[in-house]
Amino acid sequence: MIHIEQIIRWINRASEKIQTQKEYLTQLDQEIGDGDHGINLSRGFQEVTKKITLKNYQEIGSLFQDISMVLISKVGGASGPLYGTAFMKAASICKGKEELTMDDFANLLEEAVNGLKLRGKAQVGDKTMLDVWEPIARFVREQGETLDWQQLMETSKKYMENTKHLQANKGRAAYLGPRSIGHLDPGAVSSHFLFESLCLTML
Ligand code: ADP
Ligand code: MG
Ligand code: MG
Repeated sequence: MIHIEQIIRWINRASEKIQTQKEYLTQLDQEIGDGDHGINLSRGFQEVTKKITLKNYQEIGSLFQDISMVLISKVGGASGPLYGTAFMKAASICKGKEELTMDDFANLLEEAVNGLKLRGKAQVGDKTMLDVWEPIARFVREQGETLDWQQLMETSKKYMENTKHLQANKGRAAYLGPRSIGHLDPGAVSSHFLFESLCLTML
């Protein structure tokens, strides 16, 4: 089970991680994009933390809904609407729930992945954040109630690292064609930080 209190701790932890990795994410985006991913996300997550500490949430749906709205309005770039969509889809699964079963968690991730695909029109292998989200959703579904958070964290890291070998077909990095190979995808790295923070909260 994942309780709402753990989700709040997760998001605050992720937000701190994004702040400390702001320069790194920006540097990754300088290599194959326009160099603003760290700036975009640190601004957005700072606002997320501000927003969610002001309220006393009783259910996960409205918590994720608020996170989604803040990310859409404050992050900007390609990643803002994408992260916002993922949390909005997650919210639809969590309406009225104070805690999540592993089945709920798998549903939430699958919905988020579907939302990301619809919104960004990317497929797995296109060197985007989807290359972390999709295998994470699959792993959580396969593991069910026996999910090992340490293993989930390793899975996330592995797929994040794998984006280095891919050629970008979506987003700004796609303009580089084969020259995008050899660089990590910034959105895959920030997505890994998000899941790593969740795993560290749950361990
Ligand atoms: P921008 O590229 O507009 O400056 P960011 O730098 O904040 O936005 O985010 C870039 C990240 O967004 C990429 O590293 C990639 O992971 C993700 N991304 C970009 N386009 C797409 C897409 N169509 N589908 C999924 N993810 C995408
Ligand atoms: Mg950018
Ligand atoms: Mg930009």
